[in-house]
Amino acid sequence: MKLKNIAGILLIGIFVFSCKAQNKPTLSTKTESQKSLLFPKGEKITNANFTGTAYLQMLIAADSLNPTSVGNVTFEPGARTKWHLHPGGQILLATDGVGYYQEKGQPKKTLRKGDVIKCPPNIQHWHGASADNYFVQVAITNTQKGVPVWLEAVTDEEYTNKKKKKKHNF
Ligand code: MN
Repeated sequence: MKLKNIAGILLIGIFVFSCKAQNKPTLSTKTESQKSLLFPKGEKITNANFTGTAYLQMLIAADSLNPTSVGNVTFEPGARTKWHLHPGGQILLATDGVGYYQEKGQPKKTLRKGDVIKCPPNIQHWHGASADNYFVQVAITNTQKGVPVWLEAVTDEEYTNKKKKKKHNF
């Protein structure tokens, strides 16, 4: 009888341990991003300034005393802004996932939780998620010198950093 009980306890122990091992949390995965939100995800962005699916939660609206807007943006994997610039510059705080930031003519930078980007005024750039991960950022945008200027979409070639193969026309 006792031996049976010990065997039962051992079995339960093994079961619990194996469940825990399977659910081992890893940072910056899709599910983790969604489980532990720092700020609300907000509403799906429906304007034409983004490629793919992204969400915006405005945290602070700019006003005359502090002409700076603060917004939390969540990009689904592969989602990104179009090329754009901010007349007053922008600061990005990466809070979760894995994303990219690229200025025109510069290499793409990978952003992870805790990374900070200072985007100079009037410099063309884009930001967004990596292909396999969500990316969450807080965008702090100085609007004193004007609203963002939106440009063309980031092509798949630009996004993946692969150049189109040149066609040979003999
Ligand atoms: Mn920007």
